[in-house]
Amino acid sequence: MCGIFGCVGNNNVSSFLIDGLKRLEYRGYDSAGLCIQKSDSSFEILKSSNSNYPVAVLEKLVNSSKISGNLGIGHTRWATHGVVNNENTHPHLSYTKSVSLVHNGIVENYDDLKKFLIRNNVPIQSQTDSEIIAHLIDLKLNCKLDIEKALLSTLKMLEGINSVALMSKTFPDKIYAFSSDSSGGLIIGENKYNKFISSDSYALESFSDFINFTDKDELIVISRNSVKIINDLNSSRIPKKINVSKKPKVQKDLNGNFETNFILEKEIFEQNTILSNLINKRIFQNVEDKFPEINKHKLLNSRKFIFSGMGSSYNAAHYGSLLFEEILNIESKLEFSSELKNKKIIDPKETTLFAITQSGETADTIEAIKNCKNQGVNVIVIVEEANSKAAKISDSYLLLETGKEISVAATKTFSSTLIICLSLCIQIANLLNINSKEIVKLLKAFETLNENISKVLACCDYNYQDVSEYILNSKNVFLIGKNLTYPIVREGSLKFQEISKINSHAFVEGELKHGPNALLERKSLVFSLIGPDDNIKKSINTLREINSRHADIITISFCANDEIAELSKYNFLIESDNPYLFPILAVLPLQKLSFLSAVKSGLDPDRPKNLAKTVTVE
Ligand code: GLU
Repeated sequence: MCGIFGCVGNNNVSSFLIDGLKRLEYRGYDSAGLCIQKSDSSFEILKSSNSNYPVAVLEKLVNSSKISGNLGIGHTRWATHGVVNNENTHPHLSYTKSVSLVHNGIVENYDDLKKFLIRNNVPIQSQTDSEIIAHLIDLKLNCKLDIEKALLSTLKMLEGINSVALMSKTFPDKIYAFSSDSSGGLIIGENKYNKFISSDSYALESFSDFINFTDKDELIVISRNSVKIINDLNSSRIPKKINVSKKPKVQKDLNGNFETNFILEKEIFEQNTILSNLINKRIFQNVEDKFPEINKHKLLNSRKFIFSGMGSSYNAAHYGSLLFEEILNIESKLEFSSELKNKKIIDPKETTLFAITQSGETADTIEAIKNCKNQGVNVIVIVEEANSKAAKISDSYLLLETGKEISVAATKTFSSTLIICLSLCIQIANLLNINSKEIVKLLKAFETLNENISKVLACCDYNYQDVSEYILNSKNVFLIGKNLTYPIVREGSLKFQEISKINSHAFVEGELKHGPNALLERKSLVFSLIGPDDNIKKSINTLREINSRHADIITISFCANDEIAELSKYNFLIESDNPYLFPILAVLPLQKLSFLSAVKSGLDPDRPKNLAKTVTVE
């Protein structure tokens, strides 16, 4: 889950390492470190582990130390083995200090390998599995093995998904790297003067003219003037160069002039433009087939659908599965990927899986896809990264087209997934000629969706500040919804937990009196979503029950209603009478409120505790 960045060049590479690590930090920010190989082949290492901004601290250390060399490796860590401290921060040195190494992943046979090293009298310094790899390489080099042989045979000893970059004192001036990851594990970047290696193409984009992807179990050797990729001891291949398209940096908001200190806020506001482009392409584009990427024969012959994901992608999957059942009348199940990866599929040949993962690297979802594919299921992935592992192993993939989402909490990728699910559902309904009246209504409602998104995002109509005060003053927060709004309250609750560290829980409305009511008291805050397909009278009854237990109520409703207004401390009125579009709008105030509550309580919304953007470990 963490990030690797290496650079070889003509001049001092330390600023490249810092810039690369800054772009990787969203993948893990427990700690950060770098190692420079100096002209006499010795190593100089700097580490930062006691702040929430380890790369910024590392940058200060680099500036004050005057560290300099033409070759270096760096790392941002998301700890799996061992606490967050300097000792466990990468790079790790081998026992003779002749190998310096950074590592992403988990060495699954770590215990056995550690015992083997202890039997060979190798002293172990840290609690990480990563250090073990450096020692294994060193042991092999001490047996006078050539470095390429030593690395390829070490790679074979490691179980699990692991990517490594290292430098050697005995074989200096080169960065060596390997990955057991089947795709996207390590990527090489090049410009006129420098060569780079990273675990994320995003980190390479701004420096490189070309990038090239490497494959599982290949050994990569980069020096100032060459890149070598070795498949096994006898064969090497010439890397295929892919031009890097320089993307515009920041999309402007609806007014074209948005400034913020927080990436999350920028990404929340970008939704207006992103969703509008997506709707134009998938709903209004004047072509018959709005999803040419998908094999229609397999899809239309499916008698069952499964929707799967984790976190926000699971919540989006939930919305997708409800839509497909309601609009298409086809059985549609919802599964956590972490459960689906071990499940038997009934009638696999007649099933299509929609697997949702914004990065395309989520380990649980990759395993779920593999399990379904092995049983013969047709797999469609909804993803942001076309070059990701999930996209590569699926039958087809649909891109979210949000642009890179950097802030750890999903916002624009979540709402784009909802749009993709809904527009695909419309396309299938049209092809199967079902529910045409509903579809006509839906298409009509889409015409004003963008205007409504702008209204909800622009603060002016709503008192976001006051509501965020209620949130911060409450002891606990509950969110309730029904049917299509239930995935939205789950997503809202997840945002409050992740970004604003609030003790929040989501329930279906009917569930309250079966248990959670026991928690309602003064200083409890309940968000109730009342959508157009809800029985408004019943929802008002629930609000009364909550009110009589002294809890405060915030409502997000589709229509103005005196009783709702009277029972609510605040009512967000969302003008959409379409039950399928209301959820897409209703998530926006929840995203904004979680952001504002975080900022007000002094938390960095872009840096939630204990989390990382892409969960590449199971
Ligand atoms: N297992 C290594 C550690 O704990 C790397 C973790 C990761 O890939 O995030 O340092």
